[in-house]
Amino acid sequence: GELGSEQSGLVIAHYGQQLDVEALEGQHQGKLFRCFVRANIDSLVTGDRVTWCEGADNTGVIVARQERHSLLQRPDNFGQLKPVAANIDHIVLVIAPEPEPHDNLIDRYLVAAENTGIPAVLLLNKADLLTDRNRDHIDALLDRYRHLGYEVLEASAHHPDAHGGVITGLVKDRTSVFVGQSGVGKSSIIQTLVPDRELKVGALSESTGKGTHTTTTARLFHLDCGGDLIDSPGIREFGLWHMTPAEIEFGFREIREVIGHCRFRDCRHQGEPGCALDEAVAEGRITPERLHSFRRILQAMEEQQARGLKLS
Ligand code: GDP
Ligand code: ZN
Repeated sequence: GELGSEQSGLVIAHYGQQLDVEALEGQHQGKLFRCFVRANIDSLVTGDRVTWCEGADNTGVIVARQERHSLLQRPDNFGQLKPVAANIDHIVLVIAPEPEPHDNLIDRYLVAAENTGIPAVLLLNKADLLTDRNRDHIDALLDRYRHLGYEVLEASAHHPDAHGGVITGLVKDRTSVFVGQSGVGKSSIIQTLVPDRELKVGALSESTGKGTHTTTTARLFHLDCGGDLIDSPGIREFGLWHMTPAEIEFGFREIREVIGHCRFRDCRHQGEPGCALDEAVAEGRITPERLHSFRRILQAMEEQQARGLKLS
């Protein structure tokens, strides 16, 4: 059929061979179009900016992908990296006093984030659960990450006003993803940001049995406070996959600074003479906690590799 002229759009969601594209300009700005993709374009993901042409009946054809400034990828079962979402401005790593952040899980998430090149922000949710008993421990933990240069914020999804709009300030005018351990309050935070009707889009069509709108891939939401959010079950599992030793070394930002300086090129950083990591710890440039965490993650990955298993 007849196609309209080229215009720019934003990929909102992805269903097999089809994508929902929002018109970013022209008379239909803000409207969604069910689009097909010209064969010569490599895989498109939610958050991609595209050039597309309008067809009949709210359809369209995507003719080009515009350049991405960032890409979130995850390995498939064969270790091959697959794109998940594009043009994310920051990864919000949600933690909470409960469930208590377990030993090196925060570092695992940060390793994955560092390897995407997308800035990570730590958001302590459930600040209303801070008490005299857990406050010191959590403060010490958060301070370690502040010292590493990460932005660290505190908020509560249950009492958003008590924290002066920390969450809306964080997501405003940017594209965010929320990651972190189950139970820390990601859904609760997202619910404060995205009106119910939008979140229910997928679920509604599921109940009509048509299934054309159901997707487990990422979906982009415009936030009332300005800014966008990309969310999916896959994104919420961000970081919990196998990582190589090189990725782990790169993922500890203070460790990657010194790791080239070990006396032995094949140093395994397990107490060998002249290990730059031990020197950096002695000089206070690396905390014992992070070094311990680094070694534990390396070890866990080696064991996992040896067993040939996928970590869930
Ligand atoms: P998710 O698994 O990360 O998506 O976490 P949920 O959003 O499902 O929240 C897990 C539990 O923590 C639920 O019972 C929430 O009601 C609770 N929760 C979430 N945010 C807060 C908060 O700011 N304060 C308190 N006290 N509880 C919260
Ligand atoms: Zn070493």
